[in-house]
Amino acid sequence: GARPDEDLLVGLNPPQREAVIYRGPALLIIAGAGSGKTSVLTRRVASLLRTKEAWPSQILAITFTNKAAGEMRERVAQLVGDRAQGMWISTFHSACVRILRREAEQFGFTKSFTIYDSGDSRALIKRLVKEHEADAFGLTPASTQSRISKLKNELSDAESYARSANMNDPAERKFVDVFTDYQRALQRANAFDFDDLIGQTVYLFRAFPQVADTYRRRFRHILVDEYQDTNHAQYALIHELTRPIGSDAPPIAAGGGMMIFEPDPADDPDRAPASLTVVGDSDQSIYAFRGADIRNISEFERDYPGAKVVLLEQNYRSTQNILSAANAVIGNNFDRKDKKLWTDVGAGEKIVGFTGYSQHDEAQFVADEVDTLRRGGIDYSQIAVFYRTNSQSRALEEIFIRSAVPYKIMGGTKFYERAEIKDALAYLVAVSNPADEMALRRIINRPRRGIGDVTVEAISRYAANEQITFRDALANASALGVGPKMQAAIAHLDAVLAEATDVMLPATGELAPPTAVADGLQLLLAKTGYTDALRASRDAQDEARVENLDELVAVAREFARNNPEGTVIDFLAEVQLVSDADDLEDASGSVSLMTMHTAKGLEYDAVFVTGVEEDLIPHRISAGEPGGPQEERRLFYVGITRARKRLYLSLAMTRAQFGEISVAMPSRFLQEIPTDLIHWRQSPGDVNSRGGMQSRALNARRSGGPSSSGTRYGDDLVPKSTSIDRFANRIPAKVRDNGDLQLASGDRIKHDDFGEGRVDAVTGEGAKRVAHVRFDTAGPKKLLIKIAPIEKI
Ligand code: ATP
Ligand code: MG
Repeated sequence: GARPDEDLLVGLNPPQREAVIYRGPALLIIAGAGSGKTSVLTRRVASLLRTKEAWPSQILAITFTNKAAGEMRERVAQLVGDRAQGMWISTFHSACVRILRREAEQFGFTKSFTIYDSGDSRALIKRLVKEHEADAFGLTPASTQSRISKLKNELSDAESYARSANMNDPAERKFVDVFTDYQRALQRANAFDFDDLIGQTVYLFRAFPQVADTYRRRFRHILVDEYQDTNHAQYALIHELTRPIGSDAPPIAAGGGMMIFEPDPADDPDRAPASLTVVGDSDQSIYAFRGADIRNISEFERDYPGAKVVLLEQNYRSTQNILSAANAVIGNNFDRKDKKLWTDVGAGEKIVGFTGYSQHDEAQFVADEVDTLRRGGIDYSQIAVFYRTNSQSRALEEIFIRSAVPYKIMGGTKFYERAEIKDALAYLVAVSNPADEMALRRIINRPRRGIGDVTVEAISRYAANEQITFRDALANASALGVGPKMQAAIAHLDAVLAEATDVMLPATGELAPPTAVADGLQLLLAKTGYTDALRASRDAQDEARVENLDELVAVAREFARNNPEGTVIDFLAEVQLVSDADDLEDASGSVSLMTMHTAKGLEYDAVFVTGVEEDLIPHRISAGEPGGPQEERRLFYVGITRARKRLYLSLAMTRAQFGEISVAMPSRFLQEIPTDLIHWRQSPGDVNSRGGMQSRALNARRSGGPSSSGTRYGDDLVPKSTSIDRFANRIPAKVRDNGDLQLASGDRIKHDDFGEGRVDAVTGEGAKRVAHVRFDTAGPKKLLIKIAPIEKI
């Protein structure tokens, strides 16, 4: 007769079908992106429930993110209804938290243990490094934290590490001391860090076999998605759970002292191990830096002898053009099994390439294109924008808000909503608008100065009585009727605000230098102790906050360049527009912004991969890491394989980051994509040949709502005849680096597009050297020497 789960198999291709219905102790599904791995896993769970082979409580399904867990649970519920309740579908971390909450008392913790996130553990490690004066031996909190984390992911602890380390080396001894104390401190605080959640659960199972058996009896079907990104501790956890029940019990001693070995537990139906299904794609392994180990996949057949292996090769997500690009890129990684994804949906649209002058230009392109897509019928919720690092979201957010594109940040907080950014802006308001009591109240005790509500009320009362502003009241600390300590704190704040005012808003008639806003902001953050407090704080993510503040200073410097006469008031007007225009979400959803790491497993109709530049993707930190560039290539592969119909690859020629502007090079990955797959709207060569970066950047910043035509990119600068069409389909210029091309005024040069010309002057330094050239026919141009397609003749 018909299988009770027949309807679940409709539309599946033969290997997919097999992966759903196969029953046996171990199943490995390996396949490329978008081939239905997650779908198959989901249907397999539904099938087990539908056929009543499993109770919901017997299923443990592990996903990589909580979001993915939610989606899988919902999908299973759609397929089998109420029966879906009671399953454990969760991440490794959440599953372990649930187990530890039940069992913590077995080994010296209580149910109410706290979880230290990485900011918390960083703060603790920082304190210990200081206490042990370990910094003198080259230990930094960051490096110590990552070493400890790596060791924990390998299930090593301070004690076992000490046994293998060279303890004659004082630096090693310091590290072991810090590690040991760190673990003690966690235990005393009844706390687990992220890595402990997994590692301590493994420890629990190994130290208490009866506890492990409870879970082995309970979870009869274990399924793991994204198996390529499991680390050793996670591997060990799965291994513990899939051992035969009772396998750690001591052997039974028979009479006469002879040991009788047990029968093979696999033959005993009451002791049979749980069935294990794992799915993964070694080309999408992107967490090696956190200890993920591809060998967990490649050695699966050794660890689970007799495991069934299913390969899926048909992709159901993307068009052939997108897949061909993905195949071409990942084909450059050596040491991998060559597998080619294919689809039967057809070639689809070409990939679109775009190069902006700056990240604003790039962001404006994305915003305009989103608008076009939307008018073409693609919903905002079906569009995603990816970047390599979180701080890249800032330029996108600014432009999106101005262009009224609703968006949400996945796995992060919007830049201008971050508390530290709001604080910094409140400081600027306190300077520029002393009457704004709200701003003053916001910052009066940030960083902590011991100024509480009572004092704030005293200031407010004094201001009311004297009919002066709250700000002026601060200047009369001694008259407020508060204690001497408080008076000193208020007087200090008053003095810093006054000093910043002098910097940013000099007396009438005197022109503030363009950098006044940035300088004033830095002064405020330094002299109020705001940045120092973050640096010293125990609060989570203090370091990221410092980085965000640096980014805000970079925004102010950029503002100065574009608005040489702009004051702090103009600056605030500009950025407050960004923050006030928030919450634009409407019924049709919003565009998703996220890092490529966060994008794993997701899919969208249209995907923008932004910042496709050297030093971003591949990221510069990867250069020195063994296997680093290959991992970056996998990350890029993950990014582009999220797209279903439309894929955009964009970059900027200059990028302001961490307080400075640098010249960017197109990513090597761009050149790995066959040129006929990309349609360049504007290629790196075009951008450079136009010059006029300053005015272009200014234009991008000043532009208002969504553009009304597709020709806004530089049509103010480019003669019509050489505009977009002429450069359409031009491949990106070969990565060019004229880094040490020596030019002086009087030199003759030849430019790929403009022909010959004479150098009038050279300004700027290093990567930012600019040649002012008078071309024989094309007229005067400014060129960035490092990247311009020029040579000396
Ligand atoms: P990733 O490697 O990115 O995690 P994946 O292998 O898990 O991808 P899924 O997300 O499961 O792939 O599937 C990709 C898309 O293909 C989904 O939209 C899914 O609904 C669709 N899909 C999978 N199998 C089929 C099929 N047999 N027929 C039609 N669509 C399918
Ligand atoms: Mg998947």
